[in-house]
Amino acid sequence: MKKKEVAEKRPLGLYIHIPFCVKKCAYCDFLSFASDDATKERYVNALCEEIRANKGSTEEYTVETVYFGGGTPSVLSVEQLGKIFGVILETFSVRGFEEGKTGKKEKKKLRLGKKKAEEPEQTETPEERLQRVLAGELAEVTIEVNPGTADAEKFAALYELGFNRLSMGLQSAITEELKCLGRIHTKEQFADCVKAARETGFRNISGDLMSGLPGQTESTLTESIRFLLAQQPEHISVYSLQIEDGTEFAKRYGEDGPERSKLPDEDADRAMYELTGKLLEEAGYKRYEISNYAKPGFESRHNSSYWKGTEYLGIGLGASSLMSNARFHNTTDMEEYIAGASDPFSLREDMERLVQKEQMEEFMFLGLRMCKGIEKAEFKRRFKCDIETIYGDVMKRLVSQGVLAEAEGRVFLTARGIDVSNVVLAEFLLEEFVRR
Ligand code: SF4
Repeated sequence: MKKKEVAEKRPLGLYIHIPFCVKKCAYCDFLSFASDDATKERYVNALCEEIRANKGSTEEYTVETVYFGGGTPSVLSVEQLGKIFGVILETFSVRGFEEGKTGKKEKKKLRLGKKKAEEPEQTETPEERLQRVLAGELAEVTIEVNPGTADAEKFAALYELGFNRLSMGLQSAITEELKCLGRIHTKEQFADCVKAARETGFRNISGDLMSGLPGQTESTLTESIRFLLAQQPEHISVYSLQIEDGTEFAKRYGEDGPERSKLPDEDADRAMYELTGKLLEEAGYKRYEISNYAKPGFESRHNSSYWKGTEYLGIGLGASSLMSNARFHNTTDMEEYIAGASDPFSLREDMERLVQKEQMEEFMFLGLRMCKGIEKAEFKRRFKCDIETIYGDVMKRLVSQGVLAEAEGRVFLTARGIDVSNVVLAEFLLEEFVRR
């Protein structure tokens, strides 16, 4: 009966925040910083406490995706990552890792670090593991890795632990651009990392690129894209640089910054965005979200679940969650986090219960980020009313402007709508909720 119980549980995405980096990049405003070994160790222990303490409140769920993000999770040792993942498997029901469901292969993960030499080797091939992930039989387990923080030995250990997807930051293949960004690696290190990861079994690798960089041209962007394509990742994310307050870049390239003129202007930025789409689509990658492209079947399950409004639990410093229509995040104070980790409720800040109006807005904002958009029947299922009752007028207007379209029961942005997505999505804010 175990299979039936698992099928009836609610899906959950699990996010584990590792805030440590080798050094801070000049453009970055994520919750990340360099740290000493003792702090890392205390943090890992606190993460394990927080995970365990969430057991009681997550028994109704099956974890469908696990995402170790940061920061740079790969700065932790294999032992530390293994300890965290081991506690996750002991605490939650993780798809495909349940004892008794998939047999010895996954049960071995529950005994991390206790593997005996005489135990038989796993017989599952990397392709078989990949197929189980793509079929949804095994949780997608991703870890963000930066070149320079992992080698073949580490990749082999991560694969053995149960990670089955890597997200690697290249950002650019131009030496001057990498230096300007403050990245710690070269393009060659990125290529070496991908090669080592493939050799150790990873068959699902995502590469990140950035556009709109200071001094970047269509020619340098093309060179970066071609370099990344040569590494044959299954998934590519391309983000346009945003100048965030409080960063080194804000001082140099902000509104009044002395080097502001080095940033591509709006037209150049738009041209780069279009060029990116063209080159990636020509190479067989399909855009499935505003900034994300994948070979068929390799869309990120974890990120897609955010856009579909699946519940997610964030563990770690500052990590955000959406559970039972409540949005909240953990404290961003490291000492407070470590001290309170065994009582997750004490860590939570800015708790906001989403009323139906906000749930509808979020359903539209997030769902329309995906190229296939939202399903009208799903709107009706969730909110017990037709989408036209709430958004009929705005949809008609946006369709007539050529930025929104409808087909086969779905509503989605057109290519023009994606170009101006911020403006279009804002149209789905509801002044007041009127139930007719
Ligand atoms: S590696 Fe990523 S998280 Fe760390 S500082 Fe650079 S951009 Fe930020």
